[in-house]
Amino acid sequence: MKLAVLTTVAVSAAAANAQSSGAAASSPAVSGSAAVSGSAVASGASSAAPASVSLPSVSFSLASVNPTAVALTDLVPGTLTTQATLLPTATFAGGTVPTFLSNAPPLPDISTLSPANYPPLDKPPPTDSPEVQQWIKEVQSSGITIPNLAPTQPGGCGANPTFATDQSRCWWTCGGCTRDGDITACPDKLTWGLTYDDGPAPYTPNLLQYLDQANLKTTFFAVGSRCISYPAILREEYMAQHQIAVHTWSHPAMTTVSTEGIIAELGWSKKIIKDILGVTPIYWRPPYGDIDDRVRAIAKAMGLEAVMWTRISPTATFDTNDYNIAGGTVSVSQVLQNWEHIVGNASQMDTGFIVLEHDLFAQTVDLATGYILPAGLANDPKLNIKPVISCLNKPLSDAYLETNDNATNPLPTASNISPTLSSGSPGAAQATGNTSGGSSQNSAMGVRFDASGAVVMFGTAVLAFFASMF
Ligand SMILES: [Zn+2]
Repeated sequence: MKLAVLTTVAVSAAAANAQSSGAAASSPAVSGSAAVSGSAVASGASSAAPASVSLPSVSFSLASVNPTAVALTDLVPGTLTTQATLLPTATFAGGTVPTFLSNAPPLPDISTLSPANYPPLDKPPPTDSPEVQQWIKEVQSSGITIPNLAPTQPGGCGANPTFATDQSRCWWTCGGCTRDGDITACPDKLTWGLTYDDGPAPYTPNLLQYLDQANLKTTFFAVGSRCISYPAILREEYMAQHQIAVHTWSHPAMTTVSTEGIIAELGWSKKIIKDILGVTPIYWRPPYGDIDDRVRAIAKAMGLEAVMWTRISPTATFDTNDYNIAGGTVSVSQVLQNWEHIVGNASQMDTGFIVLEHDLFAQTVDLATGYILPAGLANDPKLNIKPVISCLNKPLSDAYLETNDNATNPLPTASNISPTLSSGSPGAAQATGNTSGGSSQNSAMGVRFDASGAVVMFGTAVLAFFASMF
């Protein structure tokens, strides 16, 4: 399969739409509708939403489009199969020792992996199991103090007006507060920390194939319940030298969960990944970015470092919003405009950046492989695309407990956690309000979902998707 990463031809998005929605659908070559220009940048507008859905049609421009991309007009709400779903390309037997990590344990035998030995999928794990009780004891003996903060009510900032404005809670969802230790950007300018959340999923191998052919590595924030369903895909990700990180068991908004419940979510996620890969991640991402000081402390007590996505102002977060396509609340053109703004903002920053994307849905994978990644690879100025661990200038071995070099990458302990507010390093979110951060590109980002809306819509979409799978 020829990929756009091999070509410098630029194509207008409008042309790409027209092309594949019409007779050319079976002939995805860009000739005839490609706009070759000196700058290799073309502009277009698309309206991917069906007429029955009222979504704005917005303009965007992309530096390049994959000639084999699924047409934007085909990336519509619902559960899609727009391309053949690839199977895992290789089977890695138990006992295989990864050679790309020093001191990596052999792969476990997953032939006997049984869902019966784990909590029910996509539900908050019980907290009275022996495993969770043991993890609770470990947190209690970690030396890390868990702040006595009440869980938030479901519904985000609007449902929690007091908590939302409580600076001492440092609730990222409401104002973007961060602490030292939160990873919110890559340090080096024009370095893109590539991340995909919520898999592994049926379409993930399609993304893996593209990444392999483009010689790219990423960070996958894996949901524990999905790992049970697709262990072979998780193993493919790991053995292809992508970074695997934790994204909870059932994908709740973590500030709403009890302390014991948070321990259960993180503990089971760490365990299933270790049971499949032999290694335990030491990085995690809170679903919806929903983190406050209580959640931070629990995660650190469990040896997990939080990776967010870059946020330079309330209206300029580096979230493509791709996950809302399947639920019908965002059009593909809006996502691609978000991407254009992200790249525009990134070029103005002194640091690199981390972008939120997803591999759960066909729509999000097709957008990544057909549009966002080809455009990113063709971007001028050049972007250095890396997994988060690499963008932090650390070896991949530092991503896992069993292979981490504690001498150079000390894990969180009670003595090295700073309780102070982040000083607001470049690219990091600010504790309050409108950092003017303030270019016109930021304001052009437009209105974003508030946290509660995003939570509700995403939850609905995910549940609908899961319901279709089981
Ligand atoms: Zn997620």
